[in-house]
Amino acid sequence: MQLASRLDQIAESITLAVTARANAMKKQGVDVVSFGAGEPDFDTPAAIKEAAITALRAGRTKYEPTAGTPEARKAIADKLARHNKLPYPPEQIIASVGGKHSLYVAFMAVLNPGDEVLIPAPYWVSYPEMVKLAGGVPVIIQGDPAHEFKITPAQLAAAITPRTKMFIMNSPSNPGGHTYHPAELAALAEVIKPHGNIWVCSDEIYERLLFGDQKTCSWAALDWNTWKDRTITCNCLSKTYAMTGWRIGYTAGAKPLIDAMNKLQSQMTSNITSFCMPAIVEALSNPAMEDEVAKMRQAFEKRGAHIWQRLNALPGFKCVRPTGAFYAFPSIAGALGKPLGKTAAKPKDAIEFCRIVLDEAHVALVPGNDFGFPDHVRLSFATSLEQIDKGVDRLEKLLTASQS
Ligand code: PMP
Ligand code: GLU
Repeated sequence: MQLASRLDQIAESITLAVTARANAMKKQGVDVVSFGAGEPDFDTPAAIKEAAITALRAGRTKYEPTAGTPEARKAIADKLARHNKLPYPPEQIIASVGGKHSLYVAFMAVLNPGDEVLIPAPYWVSYPEMVKLAGGVPVIIQGDPAHEFKITPAQLAAAITPRTKMFIMNSPSNPGGHTYHPAELAALAEVIKPHGNIWVCSDEIYERLLFGDQKTCSWAALDWNTWKDRTITCNCLSKTYAMTGWRIGYTAGAKPLIDAMNKLQSQMTSNITSFCMPAIVEALSNPAMEDEVAKMRQAFEKRGAHIWQRLNALPGFKCVRPTGAFYAFPSIAGALGKPLGKTAAKPKDAIEFCRIVLDEAHVALVPGNDFGFPDHVRLSFATSLEQIDKGVDRLEKLLTASQS
């Protein structure tokens, strides 16, 4: 069968593939502990669900404006002004089918064949693949675990070429769990600033999940006049409000960018699901939702501190302390090349390591290969403390039994 050659350039999403495999094993009765896909284990707050149910009951079942209803766009604009100090008017906002779709439509609107896109590693698996689908060329800037994976201004400067079209920033970050302080963002911004043709795509989907006194900020808020027309601000409701399945993302940017995305989306998906529009208004405008977000954030912070301590006690593991999002991204370099499991296989990279761990300990980890770190693994700690302990206990047992 002849399929499009564009498929040859990209891999399937490893995060979704690992989760699908863990779920299939669970269906067969295997008690799998899954640290796979990054999705909150909490349910969507009831008031947000009610807003959608009410809309559905009221017959809100027809096409809506492609970019979102005026009410939804205004709620997003108000949130961005209030919380992020970004005064985008509603007509400079477009809602898309999840953060993933927001990013993809933005890349399709901005990238030409051969355009280089600078991506700090470790990176979320879909960035390079979506860039390639849009004709761009991913250029990876390697972060250093010794500096919490954060890239330096000098590294950024060295990666820029005349073909550079975009820089992707994700703070807090998936999978590193690291967060750039506003001063660190400002130092990177100084490097990009003189290159007027470079866009910055700021993926802010974990912005509310910050731990301790960690701070970050929206890229365009670093200096609104410099960045308002050059920043693609992406966000979604998936993580903050435990709404991964709803598929609601949004982008704010210059009017020509949003108009271009609207044009593309009008031929691709049209509007997001009609009865999700009032749910956006509820999530972003009802002050009571702030308490819901705070409760979930606190739980993630507690789990993050716990899993970090436990992972660092495992033989061969070394983990940077997460300061945001809900991911731990330990190095397993010390466990590679050593006998593991029943057959005493010597895994050479994270893919082989994770396969043995899933088959024998029934713990689903995501190998770091597709995040740009083949000697690291990712654990989503958006799961209960009990599950965290159960999973890490199993890992500990497998590792210590194999090495004794
Ligand atoms: N950006 C990052 C950094 C992510 O981790 C994800 C995955 N959740 C997305 C974007 C996409 O989010 P969504 O689930 O809303 O498509
Ligand atoms: N982004 C989440 C993750 O990294 C969800 C899965 C996906 O869309 O990749 O696990």
